[in-house]
Amino acid sequence: MKIAVAKGDGIGPEIMSAVLKIFDANKVPLEYEIVDMGKWVFDKGFSNGMTPEAQQTIERLGVLFKGPMETPKGKGVKSVNVTARKTWNTYANKRVFQTLHGVDTVFSKAGIPIDITVVRENIEDTYGGVEHMLTQDVALSRRFITRPGSLQVIRYAFEMARQKKARRITCSHKANIMKITDGLFLDCFYEVAKEYPDLKADDVIVDDLCMKLVTRPDTFDVVVLTNLQGDIVSDLCAGLVGGLGFAPSANIGDHICIFEAVHGTAPDIAGKNIANPTALLLSGFAMLRHLGLTENAAVIENALLYTLEQGVHTGDFGDKSKPSLNTTEFADAIISNF
Ligand code: NAD
Repeated sequence: MKIAVAKGDGIGPEIMSAVLKIFDANKVPLEYEIVDMGKWVFDKGFSNGMTPEAQQTIERLGVLFKGPMETPKGKGVKSVNVTARKTWNTYANKRVFQTLHGVDTVFSKAGIPIDITVVRENIEDTYGGVEHMLTQDVALSRRFITRPGSLQVIRYAFEMARQKKARRITCSHKANIMKITDGLFLDCFYEVAKEYPDLKADDVIVDDLCMKLVTRPDTFDVVVLTNLQGDIVSDLCAGLVGGLGFAPSANIGDHICIFEAVHGTAPDIAGKNIANPTALLLSGFAMLRHLGLTENAAVIENALLYTLEQGVHTGDFGDKSKPSLNTTEFADAIISNF
């Protein structure tokens, strides 16, 4: 079986090498077609951040395992990540945040387990980038929320919640203020909820959600949100389980799926071989399961969990009084625990 791999920018190549080394050591039956994609491809003049060959390869293979890609702030540069999600209509972004033994947080120390799946709408909202100056001093941005776009991501969230045997599925929104756009999203949520009477469906305003997440995260299970709010709440949830080093994501479309970490290129630590590859590895488990390689996923996941439980860690987490491993050493430690 073949998949496309884009190593990404910044720490991307370092963490991708570590994860593929772990896969190879476990004899994961995958072949990788490395594709040219990222800021460096954009800089070469490809305005969507990928070569035509890369696009064809990804469309032929249907699965992209992707490192983070840089988007410089400011005018004139499109995000390669957003472009990729739109190009292939990967409408749902699934992000799983779970307590990991060995990764200490205020909640793990208090014995409060976390298992939250955020489903973020991935295409619409303000991410269309439709904005302009109305006058020299007034900037205007347009926000698109559509019924078909909302229904498809919400339906995905309900299906996934049913498979997960979720206790609760929550729509989070700001429909009290954005009555038309978030109001439409919320209406769609309760419309779909009628088809799933077995699931407890409710809603919470997004600011209230943030407060409740940092006080009682264990009361949430599956949370579905619009794009921008989902982006922000995801990083908050990453903080609950130990940081961005532990936040995986899957961009789900009908024809193409992209698996990547939630975090970015970490320019402050790039090139030092000290990044934590766990988020990309967790994204890799979701990809292996998507491809039916459940046994490989289980064996490597057990090795990762055992490694973390032993207190083995990279510099971004764990007991600071114990020496940390670099990216390559951390991958080797996981391999030694197969
Ligand atoms: P970031 O996620 O790259 O980094 C935020 C902080 O977390 C930094 O201190 C970084 O060192 C740390 N960090 C992130 N991942 C880590 C890891 N694996 N191990 C250890 N520490 C880690 O966020 P940023 O600095 O705001 O963004 C940098 C670039 O990444 C920007 O160009 C942004 O657009 C891009 N980005 C890309 C994606 C993606 O490709 N999906 C996602 C988010 C941001």
